[in-house]
Amino acid sequence: MKNLLEFVSGARVLAFGAHPDDIEFGAGGLVARLAARGADVVMALISIPSHREERLAEATEGARILNARLALPFRHEGGRVEDLKMHQLVARFDGLIAEIRPDLVLTHDPSDLHFDHRLVHQATVAAVRRTPCALLTFLSSPVMNAHAAAGHCFADITETIDTKIASIRAHKTQLGKLDLESFREVARANGRMCGVRYAETFNVARLRI
Ligand SMILES: [Zn+2]
Repeated sequence: MKNLLEFVSGARVLAFGAHPDDIEFGAGGLVARLAARGADVVMALISIPSHREERLAEATEGARILNARLALPFRHEGGRVEDLKMHQLVARFDGLIAEIRPDLVLTHDPSDLHFDHRLVHQATVAAVRRTPCALLTFLSSPVMNAHAAAGHCFADITETIDTKIASIRAHKTQLGKLDLESFREVARANGRMCGVRYAETFNVARLRI
């Protein structure tokens, strides 16, 4: 069976993450797979709430491991996502969309429990209003992922599960509160639902085929 990902060489992908490790958690396997197949992947990091230099270095390393480029649309603003006005978020996201002209956008799922993540979701949906890109949403924690209803879309990450885990491991300041094995276990459970060894799940907000 042909897979849609057979056709991604040269595709432009833009992923939004509220915090330094969110994309690695929720979509690191797919990002690594897309990049390995020739897509140009930009990871937009929206906020670094604390330990800025340290966490920026970790995010840079996480993106390098996934073979993606890191973008910091709010590099001059500090603090949390909720400190920014929605119109500021949308305007800056608009700028990124116009610059990258993505074929596929990845962002937080609206059912996410973290308020910052939901804000990033809303700004993404507003920013892609005039762009005919596909839009997939992810949950960024294995706990939420395990509790959520199965996503509509499965990404086979059998080839990239180790790269995903390595990219999460790059966030050294967070390792004390993370159970790395749970990321593998959730990916394994997702894989069993779609007949592959490891998978990530996404909800489809928009897909044009
Ligand atoms: Zn987050």
